[in-house]
Amino acid sequence: MNARRKPLIAGNWKMHQGGASGVDLAVQVARAAAVLPAVEVVVAPPYLAIPGVVRETTEVAQQHHCAPIGVAGQNVHHEPKGAFTGEIAASMLVEAGCRWAIIGHSERRQYFAEQDADVAKKTRAALAAGLGAIVCVGETLEERTSGRTLDVVLRMVDAVLDVLAGAGARGVIAYEPVWAIGTGKVATPKDAQDVHAAIRARLAGRDVELANATRILYGGSVKADNARDLLAQADIDGALVGGASLDIAQFGPIMRAAQELAS
Ligand code: PEP
Repeated sequence: MNARRKPLIAGNWKMHQGGASGVDLAVQVARAAAVLPAVEVVVAPPYLAIPGVVRETTEVAQQHHCAPIGVAGQNVHHEPKGAFTGEIAASMLVEAGCRWAIIGHSERRQYFAEQDADVAKKTRAALAAGLGAIVCVGETLEERTSGRTLDVVLRMVDAVLDVLAGAGARGVIAYEPVWAIGTGKVATPKDAQDVHAAIRARLAGRDVELANATRILYGGSVKADNARDLLAQADIDGALVGGASLDIAQFGPIMRAAQELAS
């Protein structure tokens, strides 16, 4: 972590907790976050839960006299409107109360064939609509074992470099090694830090301010018991958490580890 960037802990709920249970979970997260002012907390529920999550977490913030947690869409379409059945535009997320969008998650790249160019267009659309963009990058196991981790990750970063320039703290990159997502296999803090440092250097090559402002999150089997060691690394500015974000007994300690390291 670095004092110039506020740590960001984001929970990607994927296709879980879509209804009332999602609103309950978000209220638990918002209550826990209310006493952690040094951390920015974001949850990404399924679309249908977003209005309820925004409403109830805003109410928690009012009760605690603090800023509300952020709410993110898990995806966004790059066009502002049109005949794109099943898709959601960035402006619609904003209208529903979202302040963030997750873009280019490996599951979108793997199951929905999203390419680097799509990710760049979506990121541009999200930022233009006023959202923050959490852009996911990461290598597969085969790419890692064949020594191509940095080639792949930096290629994905290059695709959004120009788009993120000028976004300030609304531009976020999540390094998520695909082999660590949902597998229980976590990158060692040193391996994660090495990739984060390479991403930071790539950003600095484009623009020093971009490197200083962009938060780089680690994601991939982050849990209560490994979060602190990861978050303690110099270029790890937070976490994108999948499975453990569905359980406040896991997500709470991850948020608290960030608060302790930042204060
Ligand atoms: C994710 O889906 O972004 C993720 C990191 O999942 P998990 O924490 O379950 O590995």
